[in-house]
Amino acid sequence: MSAEGQNFDVAVLGAGPAGAEAAIAAREAGLTVTLIDEQSRAGGQIWRAPFFQPEQEEIRKSPDLADGERMRERLANSGAKTLFGHRLWFAAPSLSLSTVAADGPHWMSARAFVIAAGTTERIVPMPGVTLPGVVGLAATTILLKAHGVIPGGRVLVAGVGPLVYSVAAGICQAGGSVAAVVDLSRPSEWLAHLPALAGRPDLLWRGLKWAFALKTAGVPMRFGHTVTAIEGDTRVKSARIARVDASWQPLEQIEQIDVSCVSIGHGLTPATETARLIGVPHSFQAALGGFVPELHADRATALPGVYIAGDCAGISGAAAAQLSGRLAGIRAAFDLGALDAVEFERRAGPVRAALKRADRFGQAISSLMTVRPGLAQAMPRETVVCRCEDVTRAEIDRAVLAGACDVNQLKSTTRCGMGPCQGRICSEAAGDLVAIASSRTRTCAGQWTARAPLRPLTVSELVGAYEYDDIPKITPLPG
Ligand SMILES: Cc1cc2nc3c(=O)[nH]c(=O)nc-3n(C[C@H](O)[C@H](O)[C@H](O)COP(=O)(O)OP(=O)(O)OC[C@H]3O[C@@H](n4cnc5c(N)ncnc54)[C@H](O)[C@@H]3O)c2cc1C
Repeated sequence: MSAEGQNFDVAVLGAGPAGAEAAIAAREAGLTVTLIDEQSRAGGQIWRAPFFQPEQEEIRKSPDLADGERMRERLANSGAKTLFGHRLWFAAPSLSLSTVAADGPHWMSARAFVIAAGTTERIVPMPGVTLPGVVGLAATTILLKAHGVIPGGRVLVAGVGPLVYSVAAGICQAGGSVAAVVDLSRPSEWLAHLPALAGRPDLLWRGLKWAFALKTAGVPMRFGHTVTAIEGDTRVKSARIARVDASWQPLEQIEQIDVSCVSIGHGLTPATETARLIGVPHSFQAALGGFVPELHADRATALPGVYIAGDCAGISGAAAAQLSGRLAGIRAAFDLGALDAVEFERRAGPVRAALKRADRFGQAISSLMTVRPGLAQAMPRETVVCRCEDVTRAEIDRAVLAGACDVNQLKSTTRCGMGPCQGRICSEAAGDLVAIASSRTRTCAGQWTARAPLRPLTVSELVGAYEYDDIPKITPLPG
């Protein structure tokens, strides 16, 4: 077991585009910086480092891999102390932080804390979603990028947003088989966002290349459709798909497709557990992916010394995440006295302007992915919503009928959200269902109260190996 109590000027959570850039910006201002991430290398989700050594040719062909390699090199040269393989499990408003790693617990303190914790994938549950062979759309990118693995057999790729096309094209290009692409959006909805998307022609071009790859591979496309059920005994055998109305309520059942894998996702939700635990106020904004922290100028918050950057402050994509991280790092440096007002403005001004443009692109994508109420409304009663605790929609409806009016009361009565994933997978679906059943707004249905540990951990990871007899026991008072 090891422990330490180092002090840093700036601690950053998350080594994705936002956190890595915040760390680099704070180092450029001469501050001591530590960067914490549970992954073994920097890159976050989009720039995830592969577990295999990529060939130069692979790096050249993959913009995400090339961007990730560039960022990892800049970070390595920055002088920031990186704590990879560290899970942050506690953060106090005094900015003392506790992590656990393979060699045991660590703690540290900082004068400023930049939270850049990224997102959680959102999947609106449907019958059969827990069958082996169903994998999240964003999780599929991890298989492809980090492990060089394609999902087995005939894959149905379904959901909403650009990840549908990135994953389907990625599977085709890696030699896999895509049975069909099922997109909740219609072409007219993509076209309506074209002016905002055209602000980043490089990213728009990347999307067009995915569409072209799918067309060349002859993949059938179903626009304005959803998966209503996934079927099979011990693993996926087929999926049912249906057309949807404007609220994404499925219409008639139109097609059953034989597949061995379903890669499905309904956008992303900001990962707010750290910001909530430390006490930053949040509010619900559907177009930004759910509950988001309330931000002051340049990514500062109501809590002195706490800054929030990247997708955990609202889904806006990697380009905006990187710029918001840089702004948070510069702002923290200014607030700590490492930059004077003139130098602060010189560094922050161009970043603010570029961030505005990147946000416009990111928020167009995010609004395209905003989940509409029809999906939750149509969810059959037997659908498992909390897969850790096996809680169905019928049990959620019953709990609301019995008086539960927010997700925390739901949790107390059903254990929904109390499993090992700590509610990260079911939180949005549970909140939507509570809002629907209680005829209240999503704001009223609320969020789970954030609790330490932020990541699952065992007692022995914290205190080392122990026997039951080692635990001090209180002797009961006589009589
Ligand atoms: C699984 C997944 C895959 C995705 N793939 C893509 C993709 O291929 N293309 C795309 O455009 N977008 C993708 N996205 C969206 C993507 O997250 C962002 O647009 C972009 O990566 C945001 O950058 P960020 O720095 O805000 O967060 P991220 O890149 O998500 O980085 C956040 C980092 O924080 C770390 N972290 C969070 N909490 C803790 C904790 N308690 N302890 C230790 N470490 C912690 C995480 O390990 C992660 O590395 C994906 C999202 C997910 C969830």
